[in-house]
This record gives sequence, C-alpha cells and structure tokens, in this order.
Amino acid sequence: MRRFEANYDRVLSTIEAIRLQTNEHQIIKIVAVSKYVDTDAIRALYENGQRAFGENHVQDLVRKSRTLEALPLEWHYLGRIQTNKINALLEVRPALIQSCDSLEHAKAIDKRAAEKGMKPHLLLQINSAKEETKAGVMPEAAEELYLQIQEECPHLELKGVMTIGAHSPERAQVQRSFERTFEIFEKLRPHGAKYCSMGMSDDFEIAIRCGSNMLRLGRILFQED
Ligand SMILES: *Cc1c(COP(=O)(O)O)cnc(C)c1O
Repeated sequence: MRRFEANYDRVLSTIEAIRLQTNEHQIIKIVAVSKYVDTDAIRALYENGQRAFGENHVQDLVRKSRTLEALPLEWHYLGRIQTNKINALLEVRPALIQSCDSLEHAKAIDKRAAEKGMKPHLLLQINSAKEETKAGVMPEAAEELYLQIQEECPHLELKGVMTIGAHSPERAQVQRSFERTFEIFEKLRPHGAKYCSMGMSDDFEIAIRCGSNMLRLGRILFQED
C-alpha cells in the first residue's frame, strides 16, 4: 500500500457519503494542509492523487513549492498576511490566498500585485465564532468589506470566504459558526463568490452539511498508521 493511501481512501469515502446526503450536485475540493510535514510526505500524498496543498508560513510555502516545482501542484496560503512577506508570497504564484481579513492587507497585496502585473485570487477570512484569538473579519462586517475590497483593489480577484470553525467541543457551536459563514457566502454569490472554505480534520463532516465546498485537511491525511 502507498504511504497515506488508507487515510486518503477513508477521507474521500467519508466526504463522498456526506456529500451525497447533503447535495449531490456539490463538488468539494480538498486542500491538503501540509504545514506539519516535509516534502517527501507531500510527494507521497500527491502520488495518491492529491494536487492542492496549503501552508500557513510564507517561508515554508516558498521552500516546499520550490523543492516540488517539477510536480503539477497548486499552493494555497492559509496564514496571516504580513506586509513584508507579500512579495515573497506572490512570487510563489499561489492558487489561492485564503486568509485576507482587512482592507489594509488587501490594499497591500493589491499594490504589489499591480507592480508585478498579477491578479491573485483571494478569500476573505471570517471570524465566524468571534474568538479573540482568531484572525478574520467579524461576520457583521464581512459583506461590506468584501464589496469594498472588490471596489478598491482592481488587481485582486475575490473568490469567496474562508473560516475556521468555533473552537468548541459543542457540535452546535461549531455548526453555528459554519452556518453563519455560509449565509454570508450565499449573499456574496451574486458578487462572484465561488468558494466557501470551511472544515478541518475535526469538523469537516459538519462543514459539508453546512454547505462547504472546500475543505482544509491536515492531520487526518498525514497521520502515519
Ligand atoms: C492547520 C490548519 C488547517 C488544518 O488543520 P487540521 O486540524 O490538521 O486538519 C486548516 N486550516 C488552517 C487555516 C490551518 O492553519
């Protein structure tokens, strides 16, 4: 058996089962979060068929994407935006920057994208459980900020929203944070929102039931058995 094959098969069948119960027309994209693992592990998961990978530190994203540049991978950025690292981030030509959460950061990315003649794709990160320790715009302000970024940042393409579920053992609270994010996503669909990125190893089943079409899965894919 290939390395990670059992994980991958198990996760794919779980996702497929819930997807069919929830909405058979929904395609669900998996971003494998490789922040805990080295490039050998990424290569092993790629050999199982995975193409999209996510990192939350720019240095790691730069290093791993370079090491693996011969492979047809797409890279997602999930970490905090730091102004002094935006140039390095854009050089990787990430498929999606999932973690923009302020007009200030959007403008900083827009400015550098303009200089490079690029039009990076972004998601707006929402702090759907209103947790102090978490990044993301407050849900009440999300719609307005999304439209404002669209208006003021012509070199960015907003593609939807991202959230991290409530940090809680209570299923109802996690679900509420996903429902809140999905409501915002629905309102933004007429404005071009395509992705509702929510669901990690511990809560992806709830996220799919709440309408997620992009899962960010780390530990569950890369655990060694
Ligand atoms: C680490 C991380 C994930 C993946 O978490 P797991 O619990 O390992 O699946 C997803 N999204 C973000 C933003 C992360 O930082």
